Amino acid sequence: MALEVIMPKAGVDMTEGQIVQWNKKVGDFVKEGEILLEIMTDKVSMELEAEEDGYLIAILKGDGETVPVTEVIGYLGEEGEQVDTSAAANQPVVAADGQSVSAPEAPSQEAIAEVAAKKEPLADDEYDFVVVGGGPAGYYAAIRGAQLGGKIAIVEKTEFGGTCLNKGCIPTKTYLKNAEILDSLKIAAGRGINLASTNYSIDMDKTVDFKNSVVKTLTGGVRGLLKANKVEVINGFGQVNPDKTVVIGDRVIKGRKIILATGSKVSRINIPGIESSLVLTSDDILDLREIPKSLAVIGGGVVGVELGLVYASYGTEVTVIEMADRIIPAMDKEVSLELQRILAKKHGMKFLTSTSLQEIVENGNQLTLKLADGQEVVAEKALLSIGRVPQLDGLEKLELEMDRGRIKVDAYQETSVPGIYAPGDVNGTKMLAHAAYRMGEIAAENALQGNHREAHLEFTPAAVYTHPEVAMVGLTEEQAREQYGEILVGKNSFTGNGRAIASNEAEGFVKVISEPKYHEILGVHIIGPAAAEIINEAATILKMELTVDEVAQSIHGHPTFSEVFYEAILDTVGEAIHNPPKRK
Ligand SMILES: Cc1cc2nc3c(=O)[nH]c(=O)nc-3n(C[C@H](O)[C@H](O)[C@H](O)COP(=O)(O)OP(=O)(O)OC[C@H]3O[C@@H](n4cnc5c(N)ncnc54)[C@H](O)[C@@H]3O)c2cc1C
Repeated sequence: MALEVIMPKAGVDMTEGQIVQWNKKVGDFVKEGEILLEIMTDKVSMELEAEEDGYLIAILKGDGETVPVTEVIGYLGEEGEQVDTSAAANQPVVAADGQSVSAPEAPSQEAIAEVAAKKEPLADDEYDFVVVGGGPAGYYAAIRGAQLGGKIAIVEKTEFGGTCLNKGCIPTKTYLKNAEILDSLKIAAGRGINLASTNYSIDMDKTVDFKNSVVKTLTGGVRGLLKANKVEVINGFGQVNPDKTVVIGDRVIKGRKIILATGSKVSRINIPGIESSLVLTSDDILDLREIPKSLAVIGGGVVGVELGLVYASYGTEVTVIEMADRIIPAMDKEVSLELQRILAKKHGMKFLTSTSLQEIVENGNQLTLKLADGQEVVAEKALLSIGRVPQLDGLEKLELEMDRGRIKVDAYQETSVPGIYAPGDVNGTKMLAHAAYRMGEIAAENALQGNHREAHLEFTPAAVYTHPEVAMVGLTEEQAREQYGEILVGKNSFTGNGRAIASNEAEGFVKVISEPKYHEILGVHIIGPAAAEIINEAATILKMELTVDEVAQSIHGHPTFSEVFYEAILDTVGEAIHNPPKRK
């Protein structure tokens, strides 16, 4: 893949630099460390070295031009490699063949109107595109298409809002709020709030009914938004044909393009005893109207840990079985281990890591889970939470290229079949609702206006809504060390944060990782209060490629939890005021 050559930020105050001269021309082979070009800032002139071996395949900014810092000025790559210059929109490009070409432009509103005016009129049951699946990817795509003036239909076999609103994000967060309320009850007396009695009971019927009312409010909202945007809403199972017709019962509609947003379903494993009715999926447990005495959670990923915590806070004995050496292994190791420690200490959750389930034996009303290392876990119920796989029912007739069971898409979200797009969980790229939103939006724009916008999901934040919360964006410390060798790591703890202490939430920390040359921030990892909120600021910082020195110029309100994030950023360069001085 081509490597961007960017105008470097060579100092805190540097906002732009002038290209004095390129020492190489397009087509030249350049060795790592060789001088590519000379630049001048308002203070100094400097030489810019190639970061790796490669051919100079494009120059976007020529001698004498002044360019803002971090803007792409050229590309290194393989011999003859074509480079996608859409990231450097509207810049003239000197390509490998020496010809001047233009970067692809996003169509203007006038261009969209012109295309719409020229296009063949649509028949009654024909649409600019048909969306199959009304989850985050699907409903976002449909509304975006309608906003851009398209005639859009959406087909949903159950409730709008998909897994996220009906069986995922929202139901779990409703229950996790209950866990937080129970935690608050425990600390009330210590703060001088004496409850008449410390006894409480949990009415499971009411908790489920309340959860259902939250879900209903939100799914009704999505349906209302679709209708307000004049999207044709069709309830039913959609069977998609290669000619881009979609059959829903006895109705057949046709899309000029199709957006497959059929999402995902619970992944199952084939081990003896797994079919027991006492083994529940996340779909089942969200409607459970009883509290099991004990619960074995098979799989310590986000879903298993969140739901495990809900039941642990209701008084259930929870044991999490995880194949990796720690829970949620995609997270930064230090954060993952700290979460495991807190959940064990505060909520009595047990974690059996580095082992796997071999067999389940049901006897009477309980299960014995036999593990590879010889341990056994006895529990009233088990939760199967080993991940999710794409939902492909209704898509069987399409000859789509697949990648490990997922629909293969390119950066435009288009599948191997031209005109058929597949955003969201069904392509397995990033199985998160907000990533599905973005993929849906991009698929809609490309389906309607021609492929011009790519999905860049590398700075998608991810959160675990435990108590304390956990969130991350960008590279983990381990990944950054692997990619960059030397890195800067800054940390600040919630234990000294005023708002956290005042809230009885003074545990956890923020870790910030930056690279040592320009201090660009590469990753942020948080365990502590409001982590899932603070991480959005971090995601913006990473997306904008801001450096430690730039963020250091901002002011964070006091007292806030996010001051810990700010101080962790300063700590990367040893300047956090509320940290002890770094040892030299
Ligand atoms: C327990 C749990 C908790 C989660 N928590 C979070 C969280 O906190 N944050 C987060 O970002 N993500 C979370 N997720 C993940 C999130 O729910 C998904 O990433 C997101 O829903 C994916 O959206 P989607 O539109 O791609 O698919 P889905 O939401 O799965 O939607 C697909 C829709 O397509 C419909 N459909 C499928 N086939 C057809 C057909 N042939 N015809 C008609 N309709 C069809 C389905 O009925 C469904 O409504 C969680 C998931 C689970 C299971």
